[in-house]
Amino acid sequence: MFNTLRISSISLRKDLYSLNKLSNVKRMSISNKPHNNNLFKNHSQCNFSKNNESSDHDHDCSNEHHDNINCDFIMDLLKKNRNWVDKVKANDPDYFKRLSSPQKPTTLIVSCSDSRILLNEITETHPGEIFSHRNIGNIVNAIDFNIQSVIQFAVEILKVKQIIVMGHTDCGAIKAALTMNYKGLIDHWLKCIRMVIEKFKTELDGLQGAQLERKLTELVIKEQVLNLCELPIIQKAWNNGQELFIHGCLFEVETGLIRDLKVVSDWNKVKEIYTLSKKL
Ligand SMILES: [Zn+2]
Repeated sequence: MFNTLRISSISLRKDLYSLNKLSNVKRMSISNKPHNNNLFKNHSQCNFSKNNESSDHDHDCSNEHHDNINCDFIMDLLKKNRNWVDKVKANDPDYFKRLSSPQKPTTLIVSCSDSRILLNEITETHPGEIFSHRNIGNIVNAIDFNIQSVIQFAVEILKVKQIIVMGHTDCGAIKAALTMNYKGLIDHWLKCIRMVIEKFKTELDGLQGAQLERKLTELVIKEQVLNLCELPIIQKAWNNGQELFIHGCLFEVETGLIRDLKVVSDWNKVKEIYTLSKKL
């Protein structure tokens, strides 16, 4: 038994090795740049990474443990980071001193992973003011340990007073959920959105294009607010008299405006669901 497992493990490693090789070949064809085909490219192994305190590029990219493409990328990223640090310090010398103090956010925002949603920027808040969780389609899933852990930490430790589910227009997750093409693993996640389609089929029937996407986006946000309200963490907080408000908002990428969907989220509404047996 043990030997069989060991053989499987070795054969799996071989498969991964072959896959990695293939992936390198693919990347080469895309980038059309000279490429070092070493399988174990890792910045932790390279001098540049060890000396990244220096703004100079003191690393030899031809090193066998290095990847020219990634090196350029990291070089550029670190350079921009240093520029940013310099600008911030020039404008506000105590900025990083303040940033080093413990965070005290009063708001948790659950938003989509979309790269256009810059939470601090669109709400004119500063680092430390918003605790956040992001996933594809801003889904509040009761069996997702990731978001559940974030919510528990936010509610029980940080004692945030506001939780916002923030969806957005032109959302790829919404578009994907409305199509039938098999996409693989992500289809399991999109099921959360497809369940909303199923639930509100009558409301969505007859709508098309942007109108359909917007309506579905709003419904998904509202459903995630309800999902939040039903979570044991939230129920416990409310039962203990903790001040905690939950909102559903839509960020319009085309206008930059945040719309409050005015989702009613008080505990009494949810309690009706959980005390139904008393009426039966
Ligand atoms: Zn999105």
